[in-house]
Amino acid sequence: MTTDKAGLDAGLAAELDAAVAGLTERVVARLSALVAAASTLGREAEAQALMADAYAGLGLAVDRFEVDPVALADTPGFSPPVHDHYAGRDNVVGVHTPRGTAARGQGGGRSLILNGHIDVVPPGPAELWASPPFVASVRDGRLYGRGSADMKAGLVANITVLEALSALGFAPAAPVILQSVIEEECTGNGALACLARGYRADAAIIPEPFQQSLMTAQLGVMWMGVRLTGKPAHVLDTSAGANAIEAAYALFSRLKRLEAAWNAPAARHPAWADHRHPVNFNLGRIAGGDWASTVPCEAVMTVRVGFYPGTSLAGVRDALQAAVTGAVAEDAGLAGIRAEVTWRGFQAEGCIVDPDSELMAGLADVHRSVTGTEPARLASTATTDVRFFALYGGMPATCYGPVGGNLHGIDEWVSLDSLMEVARVLTRFTAAWCGLERR
Ligand SMILES: [Zn+2]
Repeated sequence: MTTDKAGLDAGLAAELDAAVAGLTERVVARLSALVAAASTLGREAEAQALMADAYAGLGLAVDRFEVDPVALADTPGFSPPVHDHYAGRDNVVGVHTPRGTAARGQGGGRSLILNGHIDVVPPGPAELWASPPFVASVRDGRLYGRGSADMKAGLVANITVLEALSALGFAPAAPVILQSVIEEECTGNGALACLARGYRADAAIIPEPFQQSLMTAQLGVMWMGVRLTGKPAHVLDTSAGANAIEAAYALFSRLKRLEAAWNAPAARHPAWADHRHPVNFNLGRIAGGDWASTVPCEAVMTVRVGFYPGTSLAGVRDALQAAVTGAVAEDAGLAGIRAEVTWRGFQAEGCIVDPDSELMAGLADVHRSVTGTEPARLASTATTDVRFFALYGGMPATCYGPVGGNLHGIDEWVSLDSLMEVARVLTRFTAAWCGLERR
């Protein structure tokens, strides 16, 4: 009998792979149904009902609960909400408790959280999509649709782990917690609420669509709102007014100086030393003005800012506020403009993942044995819910998920072959990490 480093004998590994492969049609059907349940911010309920049904169908104890922003407000990692309520927008958790009677596999006995987020970002103009964004369309081995890669495929992979084990008459010999959380794309308060509810494990994996790499680090992310007010005037003499919309662009170009400074080689965190452009500032939303023939008096802009681990949130806010204050004082494009800054949405610290944890070593081993290749390591320039497990929960955590493309763009897709491979990796990993018992 040969045993790989991940602790599975070759016969069992082959059985697990075959069980996952036997679920391919179910995986595609489940992912298609989840894509069709359009779960943009505030509209997560239909998709979460599907997740709760799936967890119940696996025999898990299903725990549905709302995020309580008042109770969480002073919890490290909390971000001020951008949506006006949490009612009817449950997190869904499914808990497997082992019977503890059957023999464990080699190693094993360690508990595991498999997390994913149900929320998706808006699809943009539907007419730009080759097929409607909330109708799954399979073409050339790719499943297209908003949220297909980011990250309903990952949620389906997590389900498939327990489904494949079950098809062979197995269950994990340690607790396994499946989580489907809200608001990964704007606050992370869904994952934070799971942590606050007491969910802990010996490791956590999030199958974000990071091309089957192992995530080693992620940037911090902050959203800054700025309300600019100027002076309205008749357009017969625009110079009599102060144009708040034009001022927003002037302000953003000043903020880009900070982005350039943080990307300078000397300013970088070593995890991104070789990256082309790790820190990205994005003027993501702007609204303003009320009449084409009036100089606009008001504009509201929201800027997304990236920053390095080890930089405090207060330090980032101070730097941004100083940049705004400096721009208003000095920049001709902001003459006569007032700027009020607000902090809603992501106030997310950066995070370094322990590269030497048993989680990272075990996942790398399984990836090697399934694919025959060394897994890439990824220092992400975005944030993920990994920060809650790693920074605030004291748990080893990383992302390992399928190949996909056009995330947050038009014609988002996930590779179905890669998704099935991720399901094989996660199933083998779970068998080795938790051990197996007879159902
Ligand atoms: Zn995601």
